[in-house]
Amino acid sequence: MKRPVDAVLAKRKVLDYCLRKGALCAGIADLDAINKVAPAGHRPADLMPKVKSVVSIGVGGNTRGAWGVSAKALTYFGSTEARAYKIAYGLAFYIEHTFGIPAVYCPPDMDSEAGARVPFQSLKLHAELAGLGARSLAGDILLHPEFGYMYYASAFTELVLAPDEPLKENPCPAPSCVAMYREVGKTPCMKFCPVQCLSGKLDEHGRQAEMYYDMAACAEMSQQFEAMPKVLAKAMREHDPQDFDDLLALESKLLFYKLSTGSHAMFGQCFECMRVCPIATKAPLADPILRSEAARAKPDAAAPHK
Ligand code: SF4
Ligand code: SF4
Repeated sequence: MKRPVDAVLAKRKVLDYCLRKGALCAGIADLDAINKVAPAGHRPADLMPKVKSVVSIGVGGNTRGAWGVSAKALTYFGSTEARAYKIAYGLAFYIEHTFGIPAVYCPPDMDSEAGARVPFQSLKLHAELAGLGARSLAGDILLHPEFGYMYYASAFTELVLAPDEPLKENPCPAPSCVAMYREVGKTPCMKFCPVQCLSGKLDEHGRQAEMYYDMAACAEMSQQFEAMPKVLAKAMREHDPQDFDDLLALESKLLFYKLSTGSHAMFGQCFECMRVCPIATKAPLADPILRSEAARAKPDAAAPHK
């Protein structure tokens, strides 16, 4: 028998669970708004037919120290995304246990029927509509005015939760980016992208007017750090079947280790656009040092929320 649910209390419990488990922020994306943007086959009901709510979760990105490491190491620092997935997974169990209503973790993975670069669902769209970040000039990477650069995960449920709204203000471009654009015609992400795959225009108020992102050039740049294509390319050059087998057996240990760590680091960014981004690196709560300083300055303040 279904238990009666107080929708306001349920939402508070769901969001509190996410924050308690380590999310920096969490919110509910408007299902109708998702359906207007997401293409057929990639809408929440395509994954969970009776879905009523989409919960989006944001976790902190890199530590401050990470922004100083070499490019080939930085490309693997997306690993905090695994924490977001863990919270979303736990949330699905929590919702079923607490409310007796079905919930699922939304896989961040690619839809095998749609090709190697098309995900089941756009976690970015869920996060944007839930108010967890706004699209930046750096290839639409979401940025948050307080938390900067985050990783996102989603959970779907048949529990009815009131939707949140997208951010009212986009923190990108930051004032220093506008100043640079006025001087050299580029913002930092555009200027320092090693393959110049970002370009765009600001209007007279210093707001985004146009953004262009050459995804293929970015992918080519980032893939130089990927292990999987390199291993396969090396194996294909082997003519002796035994050498071919040996190589894959040896290298697959590395690949399966990477997969088992849950880093999902088979495709990363080169991160140079974020390394130079003042929102990603200097937003008031962008890294653990800033967050602990803020917590010490206001010890009685509630846990960070949206
Ligand atoms: S990840 Fe690298 S290649 Fe891609 S847009 Fe950012 S700086 Fe350019
Ligand atoms: S550097 Fe960051 S804030 Fe500045 S324009 Fe690029 S993405 Fe936006």
